[in-house]
Amino acid sequence: MEMTQPGYDIAIIGGGVVGTAIARELAQYRLNTVLIEAGPDVGAGTSKANTALFHTGFDAPPGSLEARLLKRSIKRLKSYALEVGIPIEHTGGILVAWNQEQLGKLPALEEDARKNGETLHPLTAAQIYQIEPHLGPGVLGGLNIKEEGIICPFTPVLAFATQAKINGVDFLFNHPVTSITRGNNITQLTCRQKTINASWVINAAGLYSDKIDQLFGHNRFRVTARRGQLIIYDKASRSLLSHIILPVPTQTTKGVMLAPTVFGNLLLGPTAEDLPNKHDTATTQDGYLLLQKMGRQILPALQQEEITATYSGLRAATEHEDYQIHLDEKQRYLCVGGIRSTGLSGSMGIAEYVVELLRASDLTLQPTDAFKSIAMPYLGEDQYKKVSHNPDCIKQNPDYGRILCHCEQVSRGEIIDAMNSPLPPPNLDGLRRRTRCLQGRCQGFYCTAELVEIMAQWGPMSQNELLAVDQ
Ligand SMILES: Cc1cc2nc3c(=O)[nH]c(=O)nc-3n(C[C@H](O)[C@H](O)[C@H](O)COP(=O)(O)OP(=O)(O)OC[C@H]3O[C@@H](n4cnc5c(N)ncnc54)[C@H](O)[C@@H]3O)c2cc1C
Repeated sequence: MEMTQPGYDIAIIGGGVVGTAIARELAQYRLNTVLIEAGPDVGAGTSKANTALFHTGFDAPPGSLEARLLKRSIKRLKSYALEVGIPIEHTGGILVAWNQEQLGKLPALEEDARKNGETLHPLTAAQIYQIEPHLGPGVLGGLNIKEEGIICPFTPVLAFATQAKINGVDFLFNHPVTSITRGNNITQLTCRQKTINASWVINAAGLYSDKIDQLFGHNRFRVTARRGQLIIYDKASRSLLSHIILPVPTQTTKGVMLAPTVFGNLLLGPTAEDLPNKHDTATTQDGYLLLQKMGRQILPALQQEEITATYSGLRAATEHEDYQIHLDEKQRYLCVGGIRSTGLSGSMGIAEYVVELLRASDLTLQPTDAFKSIAMPYLGEDQYKKVSHNPDCIKQNPDYGRILCHCEQVSRGEIIDAMNSPLPPPNLDGLRRRTRCLQGRCQGFYCTAELVEIMAQWGPMSQNELLAVDQ
């Protein structure tokens, strides 16, 4: 039976890092906003499977929207991270040239970075080996990118969504938007049995942003899924490296890098493979072998290190070099698509820009009286043991002392907190992104059964629902 929902001022399609950042930004105004997501959770598409670098945008095309929005986003995200508890480590990056051709590209990269407001410092091979003594032979020189860093890939989306939710934004999960009807100043979005009416629509549908754009009658860009496969090495390898080791980027990809993670591992990848299928997040033998080969060149000692997991993510690549952000005032429609390789770092800048565009339209933006703040559970390795190893916290709640996931040291209390949070996880993968459970050495071999038992207390779930890994 068809159900029609009351009208919203704004409907956002897509609950990735871009859609949730926009939802949070809009929650600061007196607007009736809904976020519509095809899957059961936020941040379960491309936003959960990236390299988690805090990009300065030094290599973005100078003058591009991407370069401008990254610049302003980094500033915002840094202070927001401190405010709400998003793990960021300012490791710095070293861009390494391994052959003469790459060495020859360094001055142009330095110049582009200067145009983007970043100062990169040239390094000799000897200087690089002094900073990172475990790098493999063959380094010819490089650039020091002091501002580059690493960030938790999961907490930003969850923080944006949580803050949006507690400040009045509605979330509608498992509702893929399948058709759009434009009426007199109102758009009807059909998703499953529901029809949502909204004055304005924002398209933040990631890999499907081109399809939504077409539903509005446009043909401005086509999204190709560019798969990136990655390997996570065991925590014992972390001491081998302190900086992000970046390659010289090419036209199509930033290339394979090796970096520490805020969870205390090393991460190698990603590959860059254009695929016809927007669902294909498989990891392959070819990808694995390629990464292993490159890893051996970058850091030979990696060969002796244990691999914890492999995964892949799909970049929303388009035929254009820049973000596809287009405002259609007549249609009351804003397209925020093709956010390919920098959406995590650029999210807050993109969201601010969206509000600026809307402010210049016929939409009235009146700030709310009280925008509620939040504090997220801290998932970083640096202050990680805060709750589960803090005697005061355990005294207040003994469940913080009952460790369930021994690899990542996650307590029963943290699992229960996640289940009681404003946006509880709909499945085990969602629980992992909220607490770090299941993502350690044993990959859930030890704790899955007990986690399932706890989750079942919040309502029965089928095995399929529990084990769902979206994308
Ligand atoms: C391998 C890899 C490495 C990367 N490394 C970095 C990095 O180091 N640093 C960085 O800043 N960025 C990085 N990125 C880029 C970053 O991850 C993306 O730019 C960002 O996640 C895109 O977010 P999004 O919200 O646009 O898309 P998504 O996260 O894909 O969200 C879009 C959402 O829209 C939903 N949706 C789609 N169609 C519909 C519909 N019809 N109805 C309702 N909902 C719909 C989807 O289910 C999805 O949840 C990387 C990406 C990849 C793949």
